[in-house]
Formats: sequence, structure tokens, C-alpha cells
Amino acid sequence: MEKYNFNAGPCVLPRQAVESAIDAIRNFDNTGIGLLEISHRTPGWERVMQETRELWKELLNIPEGYHVLFLGGGASTQFFTLPANLMKKKAAYLQTGVWAKKAIKEAKFYGEVDVIASSEDKNYSYIPKDYTIPADADYFHITTNNTIYGTELHEDIDSPVPLVADMSSDILSRPIDISKYGVIYGGAQKNVGPAGVAFVIVREDLLGQTGRPIQSMVDYRTHISDSEKNQSMFNTPPVFSVFVMHETLKWVKEQGGLEAMHKFNKEKAAILYDEIDRNKLFVGTAATEDRSIMNVCFVMSDKYKDKEGEFLQFATERGMVGIKGHRSVGGFRASIYNACPKEAVEALVKCMQDFESQI
Ligand SMILES: *Cc1c(COP(=O)(O)O)cnc(C)c1O
Repeated sequence: MEKYNFNAGPCVLPRQAVESAIDAIRNFDNTGIGLLEISHRTPGWERVMQETRELWKELLNIPEGYHVLFLGGGASTQFFTLPANLMKKKAAYLQTGVWAKKAIKEAKFYGEVDVIASSEDKNYSYIPKDYTIPADADYFHITTNNTIYGTELHEDIDSPVPLVADMSSDILSRPIDISKYGVIYGGAQKNVGPAGVAFVIVREDLLGQTGRPIQSMVDYRTHISDSEKNQSMFNTPPVFSVFVMHETLKWVKEQGGLEAMHKFNKEKAAILYDEIDRNKLFVGTAATEDRSIMNVCFVMSDKYKDKEGEFLQFATERGMVGIKGHRSVGGFRASIYNACPKEAVEALVKCMQDFESQI
């Protein structure tokens, strides 16, 4: 039976990226040696690193003055790396979910954290809009897509202080105006590749101003190098993860880049939200205007609450994988990242309709 992968991360990847990784593990770049066994100083590898950076710059239209880094430790390591690099005294944070809360916790090691708005009062089912960003903050941190709750900030906001965004789960899903951001970071394992690497897009002029000593590995400047060959190569980079990232970015480019991805993602999300709104068994959990086009969260409507387990089983028998909601929201979550085909969404919708007609 065909499986439809709705996992929240790690998650579905473009088939061709997975296939080329398999080939490269056997024989990297016609060297006769596998990707996992080459030296990261092999010229062919240095080229992959460079091309990966170029693809990021091209796809996201990254202006001069920014660097793209590939670092280990996932997004969670960036929760403390970021304030270690940027916080002098105080930072402002928007608390839109558990990931934001974790970022806030780590920032407190470096200074004062001003949580200027939170949607915790309604289990993070919306994005707060009524807040003022303090002009004396060193930066303002947002989480653009709240993976667990299915809420998303759909535009690049204006901020009087450097804007920092955790874009783990919606990077590459739409075009963004990089010039509005000071730093963008995220774990790769949602839209850009497998786990094991984080991407960091950083405006260089923000660095080196905290007046605090900083460990080499934590200092972004360590990973920025005058020589293209040494960029993100201070220590051994996660070669496998970067390789799959490279192949995934190539795929995104072949699909027509971020405009095309955005159109495709909006179309997929609309198909699923339309069904949730139409089907009497289900209701969406996120505020309509903040609905994520990456993670679609829904629960059984009150009258059919007792059918939750039954639907999960029904869907699982029809090949749906990973649709159980996060424990803090319950119900269901379908993650429909870039690489999720439209057929998967259509199959899930069909499943919801078939279940409804037998109730
Ligand atoms: C998955 C996720 C994280 C955590 O990423 P790790 O790489 O596992 O540390 C952080 N923020 C958001 C928004 C996420 O979706």
C-alpha cells in the first residue's frame, strides 16, 4: 500500500534528493569512495558546500552583507547561540508556542528577556498582533511557523530593532524579504533536508558587539571565513545532512523557486482546510487568519469527540502516516511541507470524506 507521509519533522523529502544521497553514499562525485567516507577537505566536497551556499543565496535572494552558515546542533542550539552573539542587555521575544518558550529560556542566560506578547492564554492557537517592540531591545525574536499548533506569520514584519526568526518549519515555503531580518535560523529537518544541521543566515554587522567573551564554536564569526573554502568548515561539517540539503535546494529550484513553492503550498493547504471547514466531523484549531500552510491542525468536533481513535485507525489503514496531533493540542496534525505531494493531501481529504459517509 502506498504510504502518505505527514510527519512533522523529520519528514517527507523530495524523492530525487533521497535517491541522489543513496548514490552518493555508494560513490561520491565519481571518486570511487562513498560520501560518508570521504574527507571533508576533498575538492568535490568543498564544491558541494559552496554550491549549497549559492543555492540559498539565489533562492532567497540574499543581499550582500549576510552569510549563510551550516552548523550542528539543530535549532535548539541556536536558542542559546543567538543570544550569545547578539544580546548586550535585553531582547524582546514573541511567545507563540513551546519552541518560542524554549528560545526564551535560553536567552535568559545572557540578559533580560522581555516577552512582549504571548498566545499561551489560548494554547497558542493564534499569533498575537497587539504589541509594541521596545526600541531599546538588542533584537526582536519571532517564530514564524509554530509547528505544534499550526499557526504561521504570513508576512515579514517591520521591526525597529534587528528582527530574528526561527524559521525551522516554514523556510523555503514562500519568498521572504531577507533585508528585514538580522538573523534567520532553523533546523533543516522540516523543509530543507534531514536532521543534523541547522541553517543560519546572519547579517555580519550585528556581530561582535556584546563585550562578552564567547566560545569559538558558539561565535558565528568563527564560522564566517574570508576564504570560501573554510566557511562553515571550522570543524567537520555534518556532510550527509548538508549533501541532502544541497539536493533538496536543487529540487526547489527546479520546481520554480520560492514563488512556485508558495503557490503550490497555498493550494495544498486550501484543499485540506476547505475539507476541515466543510466536514461536520472536524474543526480546525488555529485562528483562521493565522492558519499555517505547513502544519494543519484539526480535532474532532464536539459531537464526534469519541470518534478520534476510530478515525486515526481508519486513516492509518489507508496509508496515512504521522497524522496524530502533538500531545499538547490533541486530535490531528497533517504536516504538508514543500516535498509533500498534492496527491497525499487529496488522499487524506478522501479519507476524511469516506469516514464521514460511514458515520
Ligand atoms: C522542530 C523545531 C525546532 C527544533 O529543532 P531541533 O533541530 O530539533 O532543535 C525549533 N523550532 C521550531 C519552530 C521547530 O519546528
